[in-house]
Amino acid sequence: MTDRLQMFIDGEWCDASDGRTLTTADPATGRDWATFPSATATDVDRAVRAADRAMYEGPWARTTATQRGKVLRRMAEALAARAEHIAHIETRDTGKLLRETRATTNYIAEYYEYFAGAADKLQGSTFATDKPELMAMTLREPIGVVAGVIPWNNQLFLSAVKVAPALACGNAVVLKASEFAPAALLELGHIAEAAGLPPGVLSVVTGEGDPCGSTLARHPLVARIAFTGGHETARHIVRHSAENLAVVTLELGGKSPIAVFDDADLDNAVNGIIAANFGAAGQSCVAGTRVYLHRSVRDEVLERVAARAATIVVGDPTDAATEVGPLATQGQLNRIEAAVGASVGEGATLRVGGGRPALAPEFRDGWWYAPTVLECPSGDITAARQELFGPVLSAFVFDTEDDVIAAANDSPFHYATGVFTRDVGRAMRVTRRIRAGVAYVNTYRVISPMVPFGGDGLTGFGRESGFESLLDYSRPKTVWVNTSPNSAPDPFTMR
Ligand code: NAD
Repeated sequence: MTDRLQMFIDGEWCDASDGRTLTTADPATGRDWATFPSATATDVDRAVRAADRAMYEGPWARTTATQRGKVLRRMAEALAARAEHIAHIETRDTGKLLRETRATTNYIAEYYEYFAGAADKLQGSTFATDKPELMAMTLREPIGVVAGVIPWNNQLFLSAVKVAPALACGNAVVLKASEFAPAALLELGHIAEAAGLPPGVLSVVTGEGDPCGSTLARHPLVARIAFTGGHETARHIVRHSAENLAVVTLELGGKSPIAVFDDADLDNAVNGIIAANFGAAGQSCVAGTRVYLHRSVRDEVLERVAARAATIVVGDPTDAATEVGPLATQGQLNRIEAAVGASVGEGATLRVGGGRPALAPEFRDGWWYAPTVLECPSGDITAARQELFGPVLSAFVFDTEDDVIAAANDSPFHYATGVFTRDVGRAMRVTRRIRAGVAYVNTYRVISPMVPFGGDGLTGFGRESGFESLLDYSRPKTVWVNTSPNSAPDPFTMR
């Protein structure tokens, strides 16, 4: 018996207009647990039109920024109040550890709090001009209907950094949930209801990339697309946006480098490397999967990382003692198995992992992969070049600062980087020369509502989170005001 999920369009819970459904499975067991609607182009059109109406005609159009701040605060409260329920749903649908989904759901409420406070701090400008009797100013206006396209991992966080600033600015949002794990995102419909959002201001549609995602991204009434996902899908998004000329931001996957120098605090570096690679089973956009170790500390660090990886507790994601759960999809598992197999064939040495872990019988058909450490002779190894989005670390050795910077930059992905050293000058030199959207010094995998994040190169463009993201969900309207007591002269009369 499976649950039956519905999508949330224009303030109502509904099925697809043609009744078609898809199924979602529990990654720990591989068993289907719920069906959800496979939205048609008609359904998506209905959601976008409702958003457009809500934004330009409904009560949302007349709210003040202060009122919108209050709505966002209620969303934060509703999220915190439902955190336990949502955490269980997300764990069941994505395999993410319950203790992580619990902690992140509560932390995500902080993002709504932050943008609640920021909503009425956004201002236009006034300008000095060369025209003595004219005044010029800008009003900050909402940008238009926002399409948020969301992947299966960390859905509530990846939607919060879109929805909260978008609503703060007075936009309406249509979210597209992943076809692999839509359940946690659908919970936002309940949050919208609990917070009293007018119908249409926030809808969540479910279905496949095409037609659901593609109809949304190229819809003529969509003015802004905020996408998180893989870079191949991002190429489709950019092509879709050629039709509506929407403003686009792209948050994509990475292959981020971490450099550990000979003077680093090695306990700290080892913990940073473990967090960067095995937190969330490596299914994180900032995963620091290329680990460069200075020759003088290579053996010790690799030994310690391998020893810790070998003792990571893999298993039931609802058990508080578990450290790594399953991968979210069967496709991910297949891809990782193939990449690790190819890498060993290319000369990489398997230090730890490299297959399915031994687990209790109920998890036999789930999508599991053991934490894996590969020692790589060069950066050409498959696992070192592909974004794997799983618990697989590739380790390399380096001798000089220049060597590690060149190796770190030898990738099309430039999301994050980590530098472990006690030398502040070196930390800053290296950080400045490694291409990345986010750099961590003596730490890794940190986020905050106040601080922007985003990538460079094949990891996308634009930044999410932080006050400046309000600028991406609003646009300036320039207003010229004539202050002269006299009528303007006839423009065609010579004086
Ligand atoms: P994906 O690119 O396959 O899918 C993302 C979303 O795009 C899904 O909702 C999907 O249905 C939709 N989509 C697919 N085809 C589409 C189309 N033609 N038009 C419109 N929408 C379409 O990604 P995924 O496998 O769900 O997620 C994993 C990827 O997300 C990884 O590459 C990961 O690195 C990336 N990611 C990036 C960040 C970040 O902040 N940079 C965070 C998390 C995940």
